[in-house]
Amino acid sequence: MDVPENDKLKEITEKLSKILRIQDWDIKVNVVSGYEFAEKTELECTCDGACCRNVRLNTAEIYLNKEKDVDWYETLIHELLHIQSTELIHCAEAYFEETHSYFTDIYESLIEKQAQIFCKIYPLEALM
Ligand SMILES: [Zn+2]
Repeated sequence: MDVPENDKLKEITEKLSKILRIQDWDIKVNVVSGYEFAEKTELECTCDGACCRNVRLNTAEIYLNKEKDVDWYETLIHELLHIQSTELIHCAEAYFEETHSYFTDIYESLIEKQAQIFCKIYPLEALM
């Protein structure tokens, strides 16, 4: 991932948060190694990104795995869309408890499609 330096990344994240109407969240983006990624998120070190949310505090930590050769901008948007749909996922997780992994697959696929569409509507250049 060829992620911009921290100030620029913060600025881009703030702009995207406004567009997605999630500006009341305190969002910190961390660009980390695969090892740190696995340690912080408890996910596979081969994942592109992750988002840990605290619903009570309205805070989120996004982790971008810098060892992955993927579009960082699309990965960032993907994780921001997870923040946007936090309430939905909490509700659905409780409701779909027994078919949870099936639901998670559908949810992930939907978020990824939305991220791809968002990238087309708001390419990085349009934010600069
Ligand atoms: Zn995801």
